[in-house]
Amino acid sequence: MPLANADLGPLEPPSDCPACPRLVALREELKELHPDWHNAPVPSFGSSSPRLLVIGLAPGMKGANSTGRPFTGDYAGDLLYKTMLDYGFAEGTYLARPDDGLSLNGALITNAVRCLPPQNKPTGEEIRTCRPYLLATLAANPSIRAVLALGRIAHETFLTALELKRAGYPFAHGAQHELPGYGMDLFDSYHCSRYNTNTRRLTEEMFRSVFDKIRRHIP
Ligand code: SF4
Repeated sequence: MPLANADLGPLEPPSDCPACPRLVALREELKELHPDWHNAPVPSFGSSSPRLLVIGLAPGMKGANSTGRPFTGDYAGDLLYKTMLDYGFAEGTYLARPDDGLSLNGALITNAVRCLPPQNKPTGEEIRTCRPYLLATLAANPSIRAVLALGRIAHETFLTALELKRAGYPFAHGAQHELPGYGMDLFDSYHCSRYNTNTRRLTEEMFRSVFDKIRRHIP
C-alpha cells in the first residue's frame, strides 16, 4: 500500500485518547496508583527528517509509560540509547529521564501501540486501532530509509501496517528485508529487553551487529 494513500490523520493521539477501553482502564488505574507517572499515550521521539525509524511494540510500564518518552526509564532504553549514541543516531547523555537533554540525530523512535497494554501484550484490535498513528508517522517522514523492528511482534505489526505478507519477510535477528516500493529496508533485532540480555538471547555485540548493517545502509 503506498504510504501516500495512508490515512493521514494526526501524528499523535490526544493525551486522553478513548479508543481502546482496556488500555484506557489501565491508564486510569495507574493514574490513581502513580499520579506522578505519564500514564497516557507516549508520543514518538526524535529528529525531523529521520532516516532511521526504530519501532517497538508498546510502552513499558516503568519505562515510557512512566517517563513519557519511548524506551526511557527501563533497561531496554539503556541498551538502545547507548547503542544509538555509539552509532551517531543520538547526541548528548542518556540519563533515563525525558529532561536529560538527549536528542536524536536522523532517527525517530515510536511504538506501534502508544499506550501501555496489560502484560505488555496488546490485542490485535488494539494494534489495529492505533495503526493510523503509525501510518501517519511513516507518511509524514518520507526521509526514512531504514526501519529497525525491536522484536518479532513489532516486525509483524509493521509488515501488517504496510499490508505486506509476513511470509515474504520472515523475522530473524540480524535480517535485512528490502521493501520494494517503499524506499526503505526493514531490519530485525531481538528486543533489547533485560530478559533477552540476561538470558543471552541478545548480547550487546549482537545488537551492535544490527546497527552495523543499518549504518552501512544509511552511511
Ligand atoms: S493505544 Fe492508540 S488508539 Fe488505543 S487508546 Fe492508546 S493512543 Fe488511542
